[in-house]
Amino acid sequence: MNNPAVIESKNGLIVIDPGGNYNVGKKILAEIEKVSKKPIIAIFNTHKHGDHWFANKSIQEKYPDAPIYALSYMIEQVKENAAETWYGILGRLTGNLEGTKPFAFPTQGVENKQTVVVDGETFVMRHFTKGHTDTDILIEHVNSSTLFMGDNLITNRFGAFDESSSIIENIELLEKIKNQEDGLKKYKLYVPGHGPSNSDAAKLIDPFLNYMKIIVAAAKKGYEDGIESYEMKPIVHEELKDYHLWDAYEGQMGKHLMKAYSEVEMLDF
Ligand SMILES: [Zn+2]
Repeated sequence: MNNPAVIESKNGLIVIDPGGNYNVGKKILAEIEKVSKKPIIAIFNTHKHGDHWFANKSIQEKYPDAPIYALSYMIEQVKENAAETWYGILGRLTGNLEGTKPFAFPTQGVENKQTVVVDGETFVMRHFTKGHTDTDILIEHVNSSTLFMGDNLITNRFGAFDESSSIIENIELLEKIKNQEDGLKKYKLYVPGHGPSNSDAAKLIDPFLNYMKIIVAAAKKGYEDGIESYEMKPIVHEELKDYHLWDAYEGQMGKHLMKAYSEVEMLDF
């Protein structure tokens, strides 16, 4: 359900976020082989959530020498506990983790603004302190002018904002992408972590961005007026009519609102 991507270079293939488990990874590999028989020569992982990187395992099995790039802090986090946490989450959701362990952790740490060149293809990493998590990299593929946003943008469905995320900083990050600030440019293609890609940044980003803005505005108002989040929820629900059909809306909206309340409260201190 995430967006695995493959980039063809002169001598090989580069995969971004191969997917959420060993079996899915094998299917992804089979699909890639229908397009090109070139070997996979590198992998990038956008952040610590297992639905994006557990399938490293199936690629590593076939191409053990391919480096797997991720933010250095992401590698620390998955080794510490995030991999196990996500193994539990995806185990409960899918029951399909056979072969995923031992984990194929990323092998090469990268930092903000680092450039990685693989077989003539240039990738620029951008890390902002927090957003979807505190381990995200936006990956700019210079040759094709594509920006891989990871889960800083999710469309048509909702994911969780975990303890390492910030809704407020996720808003700021999407504004930066839209406004081409902090070294970000206008790209030919924008790829979200989940949902369809688009060449029009505003068109792609605005729905999720506006959703988060409505949630944060409601949390601010609720916090200032002393209205609890459970009382605020039905009011926001009305404002969010456009999102009622997004997948996981029912399960996530209330949690997002509570998370926004806690962020607003923190800012106040
Ligand atoms: Zn995620």
